[in-house]
Amino acid sequence: MLSIIMDFIFPPRCPNCSAYVERRGTFCAPCMRRLSTVHALARAAEMMAYLDGIWAFAHYREAVRDLLRALKYQKQRSALPALHTLLVAGEDVLDDLPRPLVAVPVPLAPKRQRKRGFNQAEKIFAPWLRMHEISVAPLLVRTRETAPLYEHTRTERQRELRGAFALAADADAAGRDILLVDDIMTSGATLTECARTLKRAGARRVYAFVLASEHL
Ligand SMILES: [Zn+2]
Repeated sequence: MLSIIMDFIFPPRCPNCSAYVERRGTFCAPCMRRLSTVHALARAAEMMAYLDGIWAFAHYREAVRDLLRALKYQKQRSALPALHTLLVAGEDVLDDLPRPLVAVPVPLAPKRQRKRGFNQAEKIFAPWLRMHEISVAPLLVRTRETAPLYEHTRTERQRELRGAFALAADADAAGRDILLVDDIMTSGATLTECARTLKRAGARRVYAFVLASEHL
């Protein structure tokens, strides 16, 4: 009832262009077509030494960037429904991946996780993973915070991240096929380091899904 009243007073609008839409938390069709662009990423040979495939579902721009920032820095969980809709294309990718898969969200440093109250990667992917019966296992922990690495070259980032992740206590990655999930990929250094840690722990194949990528 409340939602009907809300929809009457504040009709749902596309979070990108403000056009009226049928359901709250959805993009209008033209924005969805433009922003939702599932694409395979393969940025560098050293990434692909540990990762068996990487896919991004949207450009990191316009409302995708704004919603992700609102979620991470203002803890606005109301940003989630629209972000969830971008993962629809994941179904086609999933058809080509081995099963069972275990999903591993890229972990935050404990201090940052406490401050934010949640891991955004987990929140973004949780409904989609549930729908596809992929269990989530926190196999990785972040052992230390790393400085923002925007200014660095890929090699510098990779060096800075060495040892930033470790297998969680009692976690068993041996022989498992793993799907890393994260909100955004910039250089890919974080995903590479996570995949390296998992492969060293015996993981069979490691794939990665990121909601948005800065590059195409
Ligand atoms: Zn729109």
